[in-house]
Amino acid sequence: MLKENYEKVKENIVRACEKAGRSPEDVTLIAVSKTKPLSDIEELLSDTDAVDFGENKVQELVDKYENVSRPVNWHMIGHLQTNKVKYIVDKVCMIHSVDSLNLAKTIEKEAAKHDVTVNILIEVNVAQEETKFGLSCDEVLPLIQEIKDFPHIRVKGLMTIAPFVDDPEDNRVYFRKLKDLSLDIQSKSIDNIDMSVLSMGMTNDYEVAVEEGATLVRVGTGIFGARNYNI
Ligand SMILES: *Cc1c(COP(=O)(O)O)cnc(C)c1O
Repeated sequence: MLKENYEKVKENIVRACEKAGRSPEDVTLIAVSKTKPLSDIEELLSDTDAVDFGENKVQELVDKYENVSRPVNWHMIGHLQTNKVKYIVDKVCMIHSVDSLNLAKTIEKEAAKHDVTVNILIEVNVAQEETKFGLSCDEVLPLIQEIKDFPHIRVKGLMTIAPFVDDPEDNRVYFRKLKDLSLDIQSKSIDNIDMSVLSMGMTNDYEVAVEEGATLVRVGTGIFGARNYNI
């Protein structure tokens, strides 16, 4: 049952908050519904307090957006191609995966066309894995300096996808590094740049991420069960 899974994850988040002396209200659980049917989303919407859902494909997000029975906060968490920005810019509450000036420029242009302001996070490849998207820590501040005057973009913080590891403790160092980077940027008090959001932690490691300061955790498998990519 999805409800039990969801409530279990929420309990674990509360426990991780207690351990770290944080308030559970400061952590939002995003249910990552990618590859899962709309009926799963509807089930969570009717049985729980879930309102935040994450998708990583533009077409899938748009389909679900158009068919869901009540308003949902959609989070674009996957790699985003510039030619697809126009389909989601007015539908999402946040784009987690901005990792280039070119993408930011496209988001600015499309947001202006749709007369919306878009919340974004800068994706950081903290662990410097070759297979992953995202900027290195050194590249974040220079990109933010370029984006800060874009009128239709609000930088809200940072996002990372930690390595796939057996022991979630192995990722603590990367979560801490992302938090330190956000504090470092916050301390510069750059106009229009807010570093209050830290999107980090997935099924395997969200408790450690919460202990290290995550404000958004993205949990798929832990709520919906394993994904089947072959259907
Ligand atoms: C799929 C995905 C998740 C959720 O992964 P789980 O391990 O199933 O919790 C989180 N973040 C991103 C960016 C994803 O693509």
